[in-house]
Amino acid sequence: MSLSPPTFFKDGKDCESELQNTSLTSEDPLQNLCLASQEVLQKAQQSGRAKCLKCGGSRMFYCYTCYVPVETVPIEQIPVVKLPLKIDIIKHPHETDGKSTAAHAKLLAPEDVNLYTYPCIPEYEERKHEIVLVFPGPDSVSVEDISLYLHKHIPSNALDSSKNDRSDNLPNKRQKVEGEEDRDVGDINRKDDSLLKKVIFIDSTWNQTHKIIADERLQGLLQVELKTRKTCFWRHQKGKPDTFLSTIEAIYYFLVDYHTAVLKEQYKGQYDNLLFFYSFMYQLIKNAKNTVGK
Ligand SMILES: [Zn+2]
Repeated sequence: MSLSPPTFFKDGKDCESELQNTSLTSEDPLQNLCLASQEVLQKAQQSGRAKCLKCGGSRMFYCYTCYVPVETVPIEQIPVVKLPLKIDIIKHPHETDGKSTAAHAKLLAPEDVNLYTYPCIPEYEERKHEIVLVFPGPDSVSVEDISLYLHKHIPSNALDSSKNDRSDNLPNKRQKVEGEEDRDVGDINRKDDSLLKKVIFIDSTWNQTHKIIADERLQGLLQVELKTRKTCFWRHQKGKPDTFLSTIEAIYYFLVDYHTAVLKEQYKGQYDNLLFFYSFMYQLIKNAKNTVGK
């Protein structure tokens, strides 16, 4: 793949400041992804910034305010990722849109992702038993323990309404399982695991995240912490550990963990295309850095 990195940054100033802030990990965790062809991005990158067909703004690859690709990137050539649950992303109003990777999620999984700008966020009160918030707080649990803790979060009225289904069906099914078929074990697990319907991510710097977390509408939600994974985000925040993931990385790793630990299915790259833009941009910056370093 031969790319000419400097054209990615339209003006030299961007490029310079990018590279100064760049902290790339030595190994490349993004190289074995199952991705759709990025040829469309290579072409777009060579022709430079293009117009957003919605707002007319000049953008690279996609518009970070309208969540659509620019006119040089035909939408049919952008992969669509189907997610096993819904995702809400809450953005801080002062977050620079162009620097956020939250738009990647909306562009690549438009059916399952919604973005909100704080303080305009949905009311979660009635559905607390089927929603988790990704945040490494003192009480946060791991992805694989979600089902365990969500049970405790089920409000009494929700239990009452589904009581008949559960208590009538489970004993019968269990007997069957003990006797013979393995398949039913999966059915039972699946039934319980499908309790989780939505995951909330916060897209902002660390300090701003704390303000959003303190909002009363987000209290009482089960908080989930991701397994330790190192970021390869090129806009890594100074003074923060390298386990502080970009939003699209956090979403991706959450889904991979959820798929294997909760759905108990083999992961075969189903969500890799969430990193379609991310891995490409990462590679561009990595190449640019190498060029400058020579
Ligand atoms: Zn736009």
